Amino acid sequence: PIYFDNHATTQVDPRVVEAMLPTFTETYGNPSSVGHLFGEAAKELVERSQQTIAAAIGAEAKEIVFTSGATESNNLAIGGVLTQRRRRGDHVVTVTTEHKAVLDPLEQFEQRGYEVTRLAPRQVGDPLAGQLAAAQVAEAIRPDTSLVSIMLANNEIGVIQPLAEIAQICKQQGVLLHCDATQAVGKIPVDVQQLGVDLMSFSAHKIYGPKGSGGLYVRKEGPRVRLQPSIFGGGQQRGIRSGTLNVTGIVGLAEAVRLSVAEMADESARLRQLRDTLWSGLNERTTGLHLNGPELDHSEARLAGNLNFAVEQVDGEALMMNVREIAVSSGSACTSANPQPSHVLRAIGLSEDLTRSSLRFGLGRFNTAEEVAFAVDVVATAVDKLRKLIA
Ligand code: PMP
Repeated sequence: PIYFDNHATTQVDPRVVEAMLPTFTETYGNPSSVGHLFGEAAKELVERSQQTIAAAIGAEAKEIVFTSGATESNNLAIGGVLTQRRRRGDHVVTVTTEHKAVLDPLEQFEQRGYEVTRLAPRQVGDPLAGQLAAAQVAEAIRPDTSLVSIMLANNEIGVIQPLAEIAQICKQQGVLLHCDATQAVGKIPVDVQQLGVDLMSFSAHKIYGPKGSGGLYVRKEGPRVRLQPSIFGGGQQRGIRSGTLNVTGIVGLAEAVRLSVAEMADESARLRQLRDTLWSGLNERTTGLHLNGPELDHSEARLAGNLNFAVEQVDGEALMMNVREIAVSSGSACTSANPQPSHVLRAIGLSEDLTRSSLRFGLGRFNTAEEVAFAVDVVATAVDKLRKLIA
């Protein structure tokens, strides 16, 4: 089978593996053991990684906190602000199309008495379906709003949100802005100063790094962002996130970020071309396909490697069963054990049927033009076959 599920996770780049290997058998010291050379070597690796990541996103090294991934980063950002800033108020603003790693922590706080406003983005039929207008955020902010949490790039439909505009509004209102940039860092230019975010989550395994390693940017300048830790212990990372640092994962994260940012311009042009070829190829072979999310010629509003579409007149489950030669994700696929139709596709107003018969492609670094041609054939053949069965 050919892998096209690069929004779910990615193969680790051999160059990233190479960078990580010495940490297993040579630089294996504990970065907190500053009394000897092994600890010092590990500490230096962590600091260098911090600098690499900071430079890639326009931050300062001390503003990077290492975590086990974007889920933890989102939980730390949301929980850390909401428990700390309770005095300003208990209100949070977010979007219905966020990842569960934002929506679920917010729901936990809602159950404890916080109030959450979930904004609805542009709907199916709009050329920018899935996108939020900054004015919606302005209208939603109240005197008791503590936090706005909005993702930069969506993991299902690839839509890119106008974060810089949203940040201006948040700044004017004195509200902190958290951004889940898991699908954006390394794929589109991300600069925390230009974006104006206060907190930003990212993860290694979406950009050809290892699973279980991620980070949170926490702004140090200007209005101080103080976070209540959710993991207590040895006081590592200035107490914000205790636990022995995952040096291997941190080195892998930094190398993954460095490579993706260095190669971004060429790679995103290449992916956009592959993606557009995939879409035009599918439409030449098949009728009744509906693009989900922003139109492809609005390239600034959509990730280059993302394609998500619904197939009319086929059963979603049967479709997935008939495209087993390619690894893609389905609109009825699940984030976890419960196979529920995509909350993102529902949130942009797609019907239940079309949601279930949707496919998501995440094209990535290791995909080729031949693989894309193969995918066109696999999908078109499956659709033909299934439609003949019901005809
Ligand atoms: N946010 C977004 C937008 C994601 O795509 C993902 C991964 N599906 C996550 C958060 C969770 O990241 P992690 O797997 O590193 O916990």
